[in-house]
Amino acid sequence: MLGRPLWALTLGAGENRVLYSAAHHANEWITAPLLFSFLEELCESFSSGGTIFGQSAAELLDYARLCLVPLVDPDGVDLVTGELQRGEAFESARSIASQYPGVPFPDGWKANIRGTDLNLQYPAGWETAREIKAAAGIRGPAPANYVGPAPLSAPESRAMAALCRRFDPALLLAFHTQGEVIYWRFGDLEIPGARDIAATFAAVSGYSPEETPYAASFAGYRDWFIQTYRRPGFTIECGKGVSPLPLTDFPELRRRCLGILTLGALVT
Ligand SMILES: [Zn+2]
Repeated sequence: MLGRPLWALTLGAGENRVLYSAAHHANEWITAPLLFSFLEELCESFSSGGTIFGQSAAELLDYARLCLVPLVDPDGVDLVTGELQRGEAFESARSIASQYPGVPFPDGWKANIRGTDLNLQYPAGWETAREIKAAAGIRGPAPANYVGPAPLSAPESRAMAALCRRFDPALLLAFHTQGEVIYWRFGDLEIPGARDIAATFAAVSGYSPEETPYAASFAGYRDWFIQTYRRPGFTIECGKGVSPLPLTDFPELRRRCLGILTLGALVT
């Protein structure tokens, strides 16, 4: 709506392509600085010939090619952080939010600025997601949980699908907040090796590998990736509390995710 680009940063010269995404959900924006801090630490380690999470940064960047998309929902994030406080887009979002008085505004906003949930947009059980959300009363633009009029109708989700097709990753990581859990399956579909990778991520973070709850099992980026490519994809639900998590939680979040971020480039 605001015509802003989604930025992707690619680094590394290796064959093992890994796609990292964060802030598909507006009030989970703390995952964006998580990717930036990983990038910073990886580049620092590389330039000093050092290690990151015990791994040689030079060897990592020789083995892997990383694509980082830290901010999938830039407009929604601007709304939640208070960067956007006036104008047509803001008023339209406030008008949508006024239909949901139980959801704090803007703190409860997960969607893009038009009220489409960007992580319920992908063609992997999208119709099922639509039915589940409609049964819960969400049939149109909302602060969260509206699947949109059609799969990939939102430009942000469409761009992420196109990026994935072009980059062709061996593994996908999607960073979200709430729960300190790792989702690693799509329905009954279990990718060979994914269970072991989830166990590795759990061991280095203390987060628990989980089956995705049924109502949240469809139309997400990771769901679509697993179904389409039959390769391992993981949703990392960082932190615990109420979204948006305060920045005071960031050091802990960063400490617990560094192993996942680093080993994510190496486990496939
Ligand atoms: Zn999320």
